[in-house]
Amino acid sequence: MFPTARHGYDACIDADTVAKMLRRWVDRLPELVTDTVDKDGLPVPFDRSRIFAYAFRHTYAQRHAGADTELHTLRDLMDHKSADTTMGYFKVSMQKRREAVETMRKHVVDRSGNAASTPSATAYEVRSVAVPFGNCTEPSNVKAGGGRCPIRFQCSGCAFYRPDPSFLPAVEDHIRALKAEREMARALGTAEFVVRNFSDQIDSFQNVVTSIRLQLEAMPEDDRRHLEEASAALRKVRAAAPAPVVLPVPSVPAQSTADE
Ligand code: SF4
Repeated sequence: MFPTARHGYDACIDADTVAKMLRRWVDRLPELVTDTVDKDGLPVPFDRSRIFAYAFRHTYAQRHAGADTELHTLRDLMDHKSADTTMGYFKVSMQKRREAVETMRKHVVDRSGNAASTPSATAYEVRSVAVPFGNCTEPSNVKAGGGRCPIRFQCSGCAFYRPDPSFLPAVEDHIRALKAEREMARALGTAEFVVRNFSDQIDSFQNVVTSIRLQLEAMPEDDRRHLEEASAALRKVRAAAPAPVVLPVPSVPAQSTADE
């Protein structure tokens, strides 16, 4: 990765040399502290022995996993032979997962963006299943692990849809995709009901996003950070789970009278 400075060599600096250079640099840093403070309110020093070259690779992968990079994309970036190796970066401890669910269950909304908190962490995990844009509480789909949606994942029009802040990036991506598809439908001169169906889906998903964003903005900074950490942990859990099969969405007129 790092070419040698000497002329006449078509080689890279070897790993041992990089490790020694890094150690020298770290040892010379005047001050290295953590975010934690001791009983006197002074920052706790960072353990310098925890800084070594391989840790950068680990952190790089961990950050990608926490930022929703898709499993196979990260596998390519890390040059892993098997996705099982990459999967290790998506693993979240049971304790962390339980805490994330306990936090998230209080911030669930329905398809109209109204608060619909889940009564307990167990209910969140047992009575719902993660589908691409939120949790689904439709019993037969929950039983099937999320792969048997009876109306082809048109969640924003479905009474069983239960999104929460951990799904925000997925919903926003989906809105962008729907907009692109709507433009394509227009360019192809499709019937008006096809375009209308895209517009109705975009508007209803946008309602969900707006409602969750307003909820986040109204929270104290610490609570919001805590919720964002819980969101990232749950996204990691879901990224490591097998994805439900999403069938192509047929263009049918949206039923605006289906509200609960
Ligand atoms: S549309 Fe979404 S919420 Fe409704 S049953 Fe299908 S997967 Fe579940």
